Amino acid sequence: MGSAIRVRSWAICACAMLLQASVVRAQTLPAPWTGQDIGAVGLAGSASYANKVFTIRGAGSDIWGAADAFQSVLQPVSGDMQIVVRVASLQDTNTYAKAGVMLRATSAVDSANVILDVRPNGAIEFMTRPTTGAATTYLSGAMRAAPAWLKLTRAGNLVTGFVSGDGATWTQVGTTTLYMGASALVGLAVTGAGRRAKYVWLELGELRLVMHLSLGGRLVLGPKPASRKVAVLTVDLDDGRVLSMTEGGPQRRAAVWLVDDVEKVPPLAGLGPEPLDPGFTTERLAAILAEGGHTLKGMLTDQRAMAGVGNAWSDDVLHRAKMSPFARPERLDATEVERLHAALVGVLSEARATLAEQVGDEVIIPKASERLFAVHGRAGAACYVCGDTIRSVWMGDRETSYCPTCQTGGRVLADRRRSRFLR
Ligand SMILES: [Zn+2]
Repeated sequence: MGSAIRVRSWAICACAMLLQASVVRAQTLPAPWTGQDIGAVGLAGSASYANKVFTIRGAGSDIWGAADAFQSVLQPVSGDMQIVVRVASLQDTNTYAKAGVMLRATSAVDSANVILDVRPNGAIEFMTRPTTGAATTYLSGAMRAAPAWLKLTRAGNLVTGFVSGDGATWTQVGTTTLYMGASALVGLAVTGAGRRAKYVWLELGELRLVMHLSLGGRLVLGPKPASRKVAVLTVDLDDGRVLSMTEGGPQRRAAVWLVDDVEKVPPLAGLGPEPLDPGFTTERLAAILAEGGHTLKGMLTDQRAMAGVGNAWSDDVLHRAKMSPFARPERLDATEVERLHAALVGVLSEARATLAEQVGDEVIIPKASERLFAVHGRAGAACYVCGDTIRSVWMGDRETSYCPTCQTGGRVLADRRRSRFLR
């Protein structure tokens, strides 16, 4: 993989800022954060970083009108995203002193932006300059004195601000539309890559560009970027290739986060163990199954119980283990738990090896039909093991494939889709 990238297509910058006259400090920010004064601030500002806390000192008249003056810490972000900050404290230097988060198209003084900030009196402000050079408009507000958590999310052109007292329970402050053109802001070094459950990420120094492909998302590494129509994110590598994240289909669920710690991506923090980790022993699986409360299929695909097994592979795991998708996990005996453990580890590691062979060193997610399933998506075809006809059954809104002879003692299962009768 190339060693440096440029994120483009919907590039925007997230800025944390503080309007406060104070001493100037040496700038020691981790890449790719850059500290800078924007506009005519009078006194030079500074920003430093230690133990994951930014200290930003700056002067400036305000962020208002058609041109801004403040000290900012900038970094490029791209596509749908969210940024969360905790404003620990704010010195009351001025009624209109403020600290918070901002989405900003460029670092120009008159750039389009959305700002969510807190003032010394606890007033939360949600404001926007919708287009370059336009006046800044106050949209809505709330009350929450520092320490306060502020969150801005972006989905397409829709930007929403939230406030929280604990970082867990959020209240929406307001929502607005912000049109930002494509721009390229910086070069970041790719230092590694990682995966957890269905989340994959690029390591960019201290930052992690985390991607979740959902159902219709794909990653393609090639000579040209994907079309704007399907591109969620494009990343230019310095060897000339482009990594594109696309999303097809009507559902828009693929997502991108730029964080310094992957555990800050909310769904990642609550994930269960990975079946292919060495620590995922038969005993560990037995403890998970003993919790019950699910069908066996439901438990295999519950990401909080174990991470990374989806609808498709769970079908093949159950087929190899010769177990019904509707079996009660807490009722499996020791021999069955061992068989299920072997099926989980076997099916997943073989699948990983086969996929790696298929795609070589290219970053491509193959279509379902290319993934060589034993039962998933093969309803009506013959079972490779016994020759019986593969069946499918609906559980909720998901289709589950299974072989009656191998898995249910020849019994054909009835749908458990309640809404079937309502449609
Ligand atoms: Zn069979």
